[in-house]
Amino acid sequence: MRIALENFTKTFGDTAVIENMNLEIASGEMLALLGPSGCGKSTTLFAVCGIHRMDGGRLLFGDKDVTSVPSQNRNVGVVFQNYALYPHMNIYENIAFPLKIRKDNKKTIDEKVQEIAELVHIPELLDRKPIQLSGGQQQRVALARALVREPDVLLLDEPLANLDAKLRLEMRSEIRRIQQKTGITAILVTHDQVEAMSMCDRIAIMDKGQIVQLSTPKDMYENPASEFVAGFMGNPP
Ligand code: ADP
Ligand code: MG
Repeated sequence: MRIALENFTKTFGDTAVIENMNLEIASGEMLALLGPSGCGKSTTLFAVCGIHRMDGGRLLFGDKDVTSVPSQNRNVGVVFQNYALYPHMNIYENIAFPLKIRKDNKKTIDEKVQEIAELVHIPELLDRKPIQLSGGQQQRVALARALVREPDVLLLDEPLANLDAKLRLEMRSEIRRIQQKTGITAILVTHDQVEAMSMCDRIAIMDKGQIVQLSTPKDMYENPASEFVAGFMGNPP
């Protein structure tokens, strides 16, 4: 589904952290929000999922204005850097949780959990508890839980930050594979330009609450609009 922020503004106290941001993500696209720590990436993501109220502007899911729709009534899937799995539940129950909340029947839940567990390659782990899983496996569970109810948009906030270098490489291509297989619209927040370039269709570079350039990875690398972008993309003049 197409997602659009129009003139999005967010203030904390008297400080405007984001001012009049416009951003559109095409249906089925994976877009990176890339920028240094503190530039407003997570704030933008929190507005899309509804954790934060917007102080100005509109948010559209398809043609629907969801600006005032509370978080729990938005159909979004979220993965944070700490996977936030429910420790007392087994993996099956973790993945099934969003479906139980919306009161799907048991047969539907069984089928959907099985299907998504196969998609993320963890069908043999459904009886385990989160603590018995590796970091990469836990992240697959978090992805499964985010995707199981077929959300309008998948939001990933630094999902690879807690993984060691080898797993990070593996999960980069795994997340991209799963995103393409499901055709879901996705936003990846990261401060790592290699991650953004290798995983996403387009990159929005942010600096101090503004999008300073939005383009494909190749174009961004070859034609940076400013020294800031060039430096950030690792291709300074
Ligand atoms: P990023 O995810 O790009 O590292 P954030 O979106 O978390 O950045 O933060 C953007 C700016 O907003 C930072 O200056 C941060 O200190 C500020 N900020 C974020 N959340 C809050 C909050 N709850 N209260 C006050 N300031 C905040
Ligand atoms: Mg952040």
